[in-house]
Parts: sequence; C-alpha cells; structure tokens
Amino acid sequence: MMKTLQDIRRDLHRIPELGFEEVKTQSYLLEQIRSLPQDRLSITIWKTGIVVKIEGTKPSQTIGWRTDIDGLPIIEVTGLPFESSHPGKMHACGHDVHMTVALGLLRKLVETPIKDHVVILFQPAEESPGGALPMREWLKKEQPALMPDKIFAFHIAPEYSVGTVATRPGLLFANTSELFIDVVGREGHAAFPHQARDMSVAAATLLLQLQTIVSRSVNPMNPAVLTIGKFTSGTVQNIISGHARLEGTIRTMDAETMTIIKEKIQSFCRAAEVAFECAIHIDYGSSYYQVKNDALLADEFLAFAERDPATNAILCDAAMTGEDFGYFLQEIPGMLFWAGVNSPYGLHHPKLSPDEAVIDYLVPFIDAYFREISS
Ligand SMILES: [Zn+2]
Ligand SMILES: [Zn+2]
Repeated sequence: MMKTLQDIRRDLHRIPELGFEEVKTQSYLLEQIRSLPQDRLSITIWKTGIVVKIEGTKPSQTIGWRTDIDGLPIIEVTGLPFESSHPGKMHACGHDVHMTVALGLLRKLVETPIKDHVVILFQPAEESPGGALPMREWLKKEQPALMPDKIFAFHIAPEYSVGTVATRPGLLFANTSELFIDVVGREGHAAFPHQARDMSVAAATLLLQLQTIVSRSVNPMNPAVLTIGKFTSGTVQNIISGHARLEGTIRTMDAETMTIIKEKIQSFCRAAEVAFECAIHIDYGSSYYQVKNDALLADEFLAFAERDPATNAILCDAAMTGEDFGYFLQEIPGMLFWAGVNSPYGLHHPKLSPDEAVIDYLVPFIDAYFREISS
C-alpha cells in the first residue's frame, strides 16, 4: 500500500542530513519515486539530488518545480514522536515538508499528466554550501533537456496559517553572504608587546572599521546589513594573541551593494595587514544571490491564488532572508512563494513544528496551478 504524505513527511523528518550528505534522504526519495508507474517518468541523479521529468501529453514547454532536501546542524527539541534520529541534526527549515509536497505533486502528475513537461528538482545543500548554482550549471551544460522554461518553489512560513500564500513581484529575498575573517600575526609574551603583533587589537580595530561600511559607503536608499556575530581571539590572559577570527553575515537588497561592501571589506583588511603587520584571510562561505520573482508570473500566481476559495493570498514585503533558489531565477523566469504552517517558532528554531495540514492543502493547489499555466 502507498504511504500517506503525512507518513512520508514524518519518515523524512526522522533522517535530516546536511548539505551534500543527503544519502539516506536521496535513497528514500528514489524509493518513493520508483514505486510510481514509470511510463512517463525519467529519473536523473545529480550528486545527492534527483531530477524527475514527467512527459507531457502535448508539450510546448517544460515547467520546473524545485524542492530543497537538506537539514540543519541543530539539536531538535520538539519532543515529537517522529523527532530526528540523527543526533545534532534537524529539519528545522521545513525542507521535509517541501520534499513531501514535491512527491505529492509528482503523484498527481503521474496520475493525470498535464500537457507540458514537468521537471521536479530535488536540490541538495540549500542551507550550506549551496546546491542551486552548481545544479543549474550542471543542467545547462549536461542535461539541457531537463532545463525548465519556467521554475517555481515555495518555502514554509511559520507566521501565516495554513491556506495562506504570500509573495510579491520582483525582489523577495536578499542577497546574502557569510563572512569569515582570520587575522594572523605574531603571538608573544604579554609584557613584551613590541616583540609581538597583537591580533586582538588588529581585529578589534577592523571590527569597528567594518561597521562604517554600511553607514559611510552604501547609498542610504539601498538597505544593507553587516553583522559580526562572533569574535574570538587568543589563548590565555597573559599571552598576546597571534590569531583572531571574526564571523558574520552580509545582507543586501541588490547585487551591486553586495559587491561594494565586499570591495570595502577587502580594502580595510589590506590596510590592516599593513598597519598591524599581519596576514588576513577572508572567506565568504555560502553567498546567495537574491530571489527576484518574475513580475508577470508572480502577478499571475497571486491572481490565481485570489480566485481559489481555499486560499488567502497576500502581497508581502521583501525580507532580508536568503535562499539559493535565487540562482535558478537568475537565469530562468519563475517565482517563489511563502506558504503558512502556523508555528509560534520561526525557521531554524529547535522547536519548529510546521502544521502538516499544509501538505494536503498545497498539493492540489499547485497541481491546479500547473494545469492552468500548462498551455
Ligand atoms: Zn533555512
Ligand atoms: Zn529553508
């Protein structure tokens, strides 16, 4: 007997895996996909991800649906009976729900195919280090037949109730980048500062200088954030520190401002190297391109949602959150929307428990939307 979507979601919730380590997740998904009638399906593997194509009946385009599949390095404290069985890992961003909705949509499309081809992308490593960009490049270069003409995705939204969808034409999510700066000098005896190069002082100075970038170098009409959330330095109280590390994040509403900020960080670091006689290494970790919805498709989607009696459609504001789905939208017209899951705890919270009712609401909703846009 076929598993219910709720069972699938709970099975997936038990086995969260980090980016590009989604081995159990991938084989679970494959098992589900292979249990369906295969005559219209083609399955292609990419790293720990999967692409499933459903042949259309009279195709004139390929419509894409993308789900992310990775979990987070978070210790779950929901106390749910189907809590994570992987210590220190949790589906705390709802990607278990995203995958289940994608499987539900796949079932519908296999049952009653639409005119157009549909490709469903099960994309690894959304949280880190970012799977969307390499997956897009692989599709383009090696699997052009699987490259969608339009692409859609959703993300769970704890603050809305089930049945609410929200999006906007144009920019939805920010450009984001992690920031790790290692400052390396010469460790020394606390009483002989002239013989050492103190990296606590160098990094502290740099930290304050970085705070001038948003206030002095960025156009005040362009929102931006530069936060250093962690500062570590030295080993013990009476040794001059030879190594300090700053860890933070950058968020901007446009790609140019991100470039300006990174150039400025670079020049402050080069100046500090000279002034404090040290070596500075900058690592931007995961950098995500903005999520910019195609204006026409987002308007069409909102109009469709407004006509649906089961749906409450909201035109929302842009947010400083990041999503690597932006890399697909950089080259393929499409859009992402929020779908309410009614939780008092936000995304990445160890107690996040999305309302599973969202699955049975969304699957027919997206299926109906695909039928409407399929020529
Ligand atoms: Zn997340
Ligand atoms: Zn997420």
